[in-house]
Amino acid sequence: MSKGIKCQQAMEALERIAPKRLAEEWDNPGLLLGNPAQEVHKILTCLDVTDEVVEEAISQGADMIVAHHPLIFKGIKKLRTDLPLGARLQKLMVHGIAVAAAHTNLDTAEGGVNDVLARLIGLTDIQSFAGKAEEGEDPTLGRIGYLPEAMSIEDFARQVKEALPVDYVRLVKADAKRVKKVALCSGAGSEFIAKAAFLGADAYVTGDVKYHEAQQAVEMGLHVIDGGHFGTEFPVAAVLRDRLAEELSGLKGEVEVVADTLSKDLFSVI
Ligand SMILES: [Zn+2]
Repeated sequence: MSKGIKCQQAMEALERIAPKRLAEEWDNPGLLLGNPAQEVHKILTCLDVTDEVVEEAISQGADMIVAHHPLIFKGIKKLRTDLPLGARLQKLMVHGIAVAAAHTNLDTAEGGVNDVLARLIGLTDIQSFAGKAEEGEDPTLGRIGYLPEAMSIEDFARQVKEALPVDYVRLVKADAKRVKKVALCSGAGSEFIAKAAFLGADAYVTGDVKYHEAQQAVEMGLHVIDGGHFGTEFPVAAVLRDRLAEELSGLKGEVEVVADTLSKDLFSVI
């Protein structure tokens, strides 16, 4: 086998893509399993480190997984291998697979999950919720942008559905208002409904919206399109593969980066 790279070099590349300082303080990004000094030949990028993704990594010979959602999030007080997380960690360790996560730091980062979603659904002039970042200033969570042409909320919902890896989106229609200015937050973003309305958005695209949150949006005259947690975030796996491959291409060792293509949304409609 040709010489790979060090896990630490992959972590440095990830830091350039999604600096840890951008993460929310409750988050747990970084190298979660493995040794920075271990050799890495193949990296698999994904949304979640599920059992299926672990199997995929093993069968493809990947020795590192870079995920969006942290595999270890809360403190672990016991490692029971008869339970799902313990069994998964054991399997990863037996196969020497390192696991890293770039979570809210990748949501926020330029070109990260929020930006990927904004481009996919056809927005232009994309800015952070906090406004245009000055030179050297960090972006913040959430994005706001514009559709090239105003359209009906139904047409925009169809456009979002076509753009994402989903079979359906849920539409919360506020009124008859056409859509031009759009706010978004990938994943579970209903906490920003009031912010999106305050920023003057006509529609807000996110996932995991609950009934009373939808009600709040309607009261504020804001359309909501719920593209699902998976639907609004899964596209980042392929983008992360490309970004990592680019960042690692100049190094001495050889490393291949592949993206998970097998994962599917947990929800389906009957
Ligand atoms: Zn998420």
